[in-house]
Amino acid sequence: MRYYTSLLSIVAITFLLIGCAPPEEEPDLTANQKIEQINDWLPDIKMELAMEGEYACCLSEGCNECLLAHGSCPCYNNLTEGKPVCGECYAGWQLGRGIDNDFTKEDVKLDTDHHHEH
Ligand SMILES: [Zn+2]
Repeated sequence: MRYYTSLLSIVAITFLLIGCAPPEEEPDLTANQKIEQINDWLPDIKMELAMEGEYACCLSEGCNECLLAHGSCPCYNNLTEGKPVCGECYAGWQLGRGIDNDFTKEDVKLDTDHHHEH
């Protein structure tokens, strides 16, 4: 019994020590490391939102403009409805990165007002 009691107090002291230990400092990331991290996250975030039906982009890699501004992307729907797409999507189409062969870069309209429908 005595053995268990001392064992318990050791465990308790250990927990106390851990609890009092200063929290591990977050490593300072350089700007480039942060960019790397964001680039790691972006495809996951887009996939997640796409599954929720919030993200339907018309570019093969998906634009970041709508994602970061609105947390969603309506550009593919806009494209099929003949509405303008965001600047990044428009530029992507001009560079041949569009996702739908039914459309050409001439079909894609630029959203000059930067007006988004939700
Ligand atoms: Zn877009």
